[in-house]
Amino acid sequence: MQVNYDTYKSMDFTCPECGWHGKGEELLNGEFSEVHLIGDLECPKCFHLIAHWQAPLTNNTDYEKNYS
Ligand SMILES: [Zn+2]
Repeated sequence: MQVNYDTYKSMDFTCPECGWHGKGEELLNGEFSEVHLIGDLECPKCFHLIAHWQAPLTNNTDYEKNYS
């Protein structure tokens, strides 16, 4: 599930793994890829990967097409 970095903190999330329920601001920031500017958001209770956000980059699209 990809979320908007600007709005995820006020969204509601439920962990499919342990049933934790809460706001996006309570999620833990996990792995962060500097290449793709993608950050993982993990459950604060069981560390299950619930969502990820991607920084809005306009010139990243061509890179994706050519190398993925
Ligand atoms: Zn969980």
